[in-house]
Amino acid sequence: MRRNEIITLLQGGSDASLFEMARAQRVASFGEEIYLRGIVEFSSHCRCRCNYCGLRAPNDQIHRYRLTPSEILSAVDELAALGLATVVLQGGEDPFYDMASVGDIVSQVKRDHDIAVTLSLGERGSDAFAHWRACGADRYLLKMETMNEALYGQFRPGCDFHRRLAGVRTLQTLGYETGSGIITGLPGMTLETLADDILAITALKLDMISAGPFVPHHQTPFGTQAGGDPRIALRTMAILRLLNPTANIPATSALEIVEKEGRRQGIDAGANVLMFSVTPESVRKNYAIYPGKNQETQSAAHTITNARALIRGMGLIPSTSRGGVKVDRG
Ligand code: SF4
Repeated sequence: MRRNEIITLLQGGSDASLFEMARAQRVASFGEEIYLRGIVEFSSHCRCRCNYCGLRAPNDQIHRYRLTPSEILSAVDELAALGLATVVLQGGEDPFYDMASVGDIVSQVKRDHDIAVTLSLGERGSDAFAHWRACGADRYLLKMETMNEALYGQFRPGCDFHRRLAGVRTLQTLGYETGSGIITGLPGMTLETLADDILAITALKLDMISAGPFVPHHQTPFGTQAGGDPRIALRTMAILRLLNPTANIPATSALEIVEKEGRRQGIDAGANVLMFSVTPESVRKNYAIYPGKNQETQSAAHTITNARALIRGMGLIPSTSRGGVKVDRG
């Protein structure tokens, strides 16, 4: 697909056929199954200063927490008991959880459960990436948010675009199922830069790709900016599905926050993964990357039951498998 074609699709006007093609591609790649993942957000501390994120280090208005290793493992036990076959261990970039301590947690999860472990802990050294892989970690999410170097510098001050990209490549070399993603509608983005992002992230041949709309957080420098248009996020997901037929693509929680029945719409646009927080309810709402995130007051069990009902109601199958993907990188 050429850049001009992508821009035309992002402008809308052919949404019905775009989403229909994306759904058909998802069925061709995954059948009727939708994968479910549980996320344990175990630290809301972060050393970074991303201008769009409520967890950014200078934000002193949020309550920070860290789960203990036993609290993390208990949350994983609950997730496994709910029949989920993947845990995503996620946190801000928090050096408190170092190479050894994260490795110990991953090893213990793999001893206790026959589930896939995805890590999403930001940029760490290649020695840490290698150690966690050796401990049994299966997947790693390292989001670029944009593939445009100039915009990246505006969104993520103090972070280096090329170092992060090198991190993605290191993860691939280490044999992780590797994921990244983009935020649509961040300040300064245009349909042209988004088309370039879609092509550049596709060129990485990722196993997992996310695209969610920007949701402004009032305690950040971008707090007064306009939020991302959910229709453009949905079109981005559908285009990514067509360009990356076998990649795992989630219907993001950001989509659910800005759009009524966002998860359903995400599946209708070609997504094949739903992810839910199983972080203990006592701290869950404090993982406030953006407003509305993790504000569900119902239990994880209730949320997962509802998600399975949603999937069945769409004529699809809530999968009990790990849902791993290895894209051929030639
Ligand atoms: S986006 Fe991630 S790295 Fe950036 S401030 Fe938020 S939690 Fe930290």
